[in-house]
Amino acid sequence: MGLRGRRSLKLLCAGSRASQFPRSCGSVPQLPRPWLRACSSRSLSGLIGPIACPPLSALTLFISQQRTADFVSATTSYFRNSQKRPVATATVYTDWQRRCRYSVAANAAVRLGEGSCLPSAKMGSRKKVHAFVRVRPTDDFAHEMIKYRDDNKTIDIHLKKDSRRGVVNNQQTDWSFKLDRVLHDASQDLVYETVAKDVVSQALNGFNGTIMCYGQTGAGKTYTMTGATENYKHRGILPRALQQVFKMIEERPTHAITVRVSYLEIYNESLFDLLSTLPYVGPSVTPMTIVENPQGVFIKGLSVHLTSQEEDAFSLLFEGETNRIIASHTMNKNSSRSHCIFTIYVEARSRTLSDEKYVTSKINLVDLAGSERLGKSRSEGRVLKEATYINKSLSFLEQAIIALGDQKRDHIPFRQCKLTHALKDSLGGNCNMVLVTNIYGEAAQLEETLSSLRFASRMKLVTTEPTVNEKYDAERMVKNLEKELALLKQELAIHDSLANRTLVNYDPMDEIQIAEINSQVRRYLEGTLEEIDIINLRQIQEVFNQFRVVLSQQEQEVESTLRRKYTLIDKNDYAAISAVQKAGLVDADGHLVGEPDGQGFGLGVAPFSTKPGKKSKSKKMFKEQLRPSTPPAKPVAFEDFKNERGSEINRIFKENKSILNERRKRASETTQRINAIKREIDMTKEALNLQKSLREKQGEYENKGLMIIDEEEFLLILKLKDLKKQYRTEYQDLRDLRAEIQYCQHLVDQCRHRLLTEFDIWYNESFFVPEDLQMAVKPGGSIRPGMMPLSKIVSLGEDDQDRFSQLQQTTLPEGPDSVSFYNAKVKMEQKHNYLKTMMGLQQAHRK
Ligand code: ADP
Ligand code: MG
Repeated sequence: MGLRGRRSLKLLCAGSRASQFPRSCGSVPQLPRPWLRACSSRSLSGLIGPIACPPLSALTLFISQQRTADFVSATTSYFRNSQKRPVATATVYTDWQRRCRYSVAANAAVRLGEGSCLPSAKMGSRKKVHAFVRVRPTDDFAHEMIKYRDDNKTIDIHLKKDSRRGVVNNQQTDWSFKLDRVLHDASQDLVYETVAKDVVSQALNGFNGTIMCYGQTGAGKTYTMTGATENYKHRGILPRALQQVFKMIEERPTHAITVRVSYLEIYNESLFDLLSTLPYVGPSVTPMTIVENPQGVFIKGLSVHLTSQEEDAFSLLFEGETNRIIASHTMNKNSSRSHCIFTIYVEARSRTLSDEKYVTSKINLVDLAGSERLGKSRSEGRVLKEATYINKSLSFLEQAIIALGDQKRDHIPFRQCKLTHALKDSLGGNCNMVLVTNIYGEAAQLEETLSSLRFASRMKLVTTEPTVNEKYDAERMVKNLEKELALLKQELAIHDSLANRTLVNYDPMDEIQIAEINSQVRRYLEGTLEEIDIINLRQIQEVFNQFRVVLSQQEQEVESTLRRKYTLIDKNDYAAISAVQKAGLVDADGHLVGEPDGQGFGLGVAPFSTKPGKKSKSKKMFKEQLRPSTPPAKPVAFEDFKNERGSEINRIFKENKSILNERRKRASETTQRINAIKREIDMTKEALNLQKSLREKQGEYENKGLMIIDEEEFLLILKLKDLKKQYRTEYQDLRDLRAEIQYCQHLVDQCRHRLLTEFDIWYNESFFVPEDLQMAVKPGGSIRPGMMPLSKIVSLGEDDQDRFSQLQQTTLPEGPDSVSFYNAKVKMEQKHNYLKTMMGLQQAHRK
């Protein structure tokens, strides 16, 4: 009798015609109408929980025909999403008379679990490990000491008091263990049905499964797991599981299912491949190692064999069994001291659907070494070493089991020994797990029996969360997407032809098409094109793109036209502005001095020659005309100076300025790039941390001291490394640029200073120096042009200049009307200073 047989069948009926359902079904509870009306998985979760209690094995529903599709899909997703754990093959009868059955999708039909009622959705899909006890048949069964209760689950142990321990004896004598089932005198058939059948069938749906036999040597672990290989009837779980797998494959022609197997032995902490003797495997060069990756644990170096039919699989099993026995002779191994893990790997892809999803699973069938304690075996020497190993690995297994059973523990010590490490993803975790504890029925073995039962009840505390191992076939996915793309293009073509549109191309644009759009945009902006026709989304995007391109080109053109015509000063370059102001070229508002309407462009000053009405005046005439009375206005003279004596220094000044601007622009671009990289680094770091914490949560993988990380994390690390490299390069560039900018700024300041200084000298020499002194300055004279002692000639002392510009910046904005006042004041002071200087110079000359 399997699990299912012992549960009652629950019939529920629902739907608009629910009342018509058979009275003969007895008291079939009616489902509330809103259930089917709502028919969403969310509303189902609220309704199905309370209804489906108490225990049931099959949820059978009668519903009306018209709602079938809705209902099946809602129930399916409900079961898949929230009810992984519990019950019932849900069967829907749409028409009770004809009994046409809708099985609520294979993966929605769920097995009856512990507790057996449907838990509410909140309880999640955790599931307890199933623990069974199998008692080895004996004529000498200790009836007084071992008792089974009627529930077939509870086993009571009574130990007689040890008289040697005196009168006061507090020794515990009674124990009771409640497991999932006690298998007494059970046939191999029944054992398989009870223990393994569901685990194996779930494996074909993508759930991992582990079946483990535990117990003292001779208690029947190997008999349970492998069985008597010479007797078909007495074959154990292993051959039966293989048979079931191949039978199920036959029943599922809609799926392409591949089966692989491997057989591993762990003896004295060494790994042995029990199938390495097969001719095509070849000797292994490197010793096997346990490796972990996001897909799970696998043994590097262990041969895995594809089997397309049952017979091949059996041959492999027998090969392994023979090797196990031979090895125990040739290598002097005691087979009861080794752990054997036979693994069946399943991969199922849908044949009919071109679904990129596929499921994989593995079934681990574990025959553990004897669990007897060291003291009893009285082992010595080599045997002692073996026994220590066994005890160690089994006690590590026990530690792992205890940790798994403790909800508060987040670290499970899997890597303490090869056994637990190899089974890391098969103990607890996401798999269906079953333990068979093999015990003796004899009184003499009672102590070991007790310890085995304790292990079993610990195992029962472990919960697992079986989940489907769903994978994506990237190649299939790309193919599907390509197919869909082609389909959508066809669809578009149909739409276009229905809408009477000429054939539209939806492919990415080539250069010629882009150039055409550019020309359209230009013509549109010029006004020669009325409108730009909309063709498709790609074209609209390109039109916008080209607008941007044209706009930025036009901006550049305007700027260079202006530059050709005017000297442009950056409004933010305060040094340049104040220098121009010092030179008296512009007033505090940036207007040209002497130009009341301030029509100059920005702070720009049109060269003297371009000023209307002044064009025809040559410098000489200008000088001759103005010199006797008042010197020319400084702004005008400055322009003149720049074209004449100061032309070279002005050219260098301008050149430096443009280099400086260009470097500044580059620096700002580099800064933007650095910021973008920084942002990306931060994002990548965040993603990496997430990956890391996920990895830590899932348990870290280590192999030979090296951390194993998944591909996604690896790619993130590479990306981060790359970004950091970019960041360093860009940062270095920025540093170089900054140094250059500093240097250029220095040059520009120097040039400006020289330009202004020389202008002052030139101005003074040209308009204020008396005739005789002029002679001295002229070629062949005693003073070279521009070489008149600066300290003596600069008309406005540095301090005065500073004070004035400060005044301009602080006082003037408050009272713009005072400009002329201050200008006059400055001119007065300049004149005064100049006269003072000249007198000094004349005296010096006389000497
Ligand atoms: P273990 O692997 O636990 O050391 P075995 O499976 O090798 O023990 O069993 C020891 C012996 O007992 C074997 O000869 C086996 O055939 C026999 N045996 C164990 N359990 C049963 C059983 N349930 N029915 C019949 N024979 C059994
Ligand atoms: Mg054995």
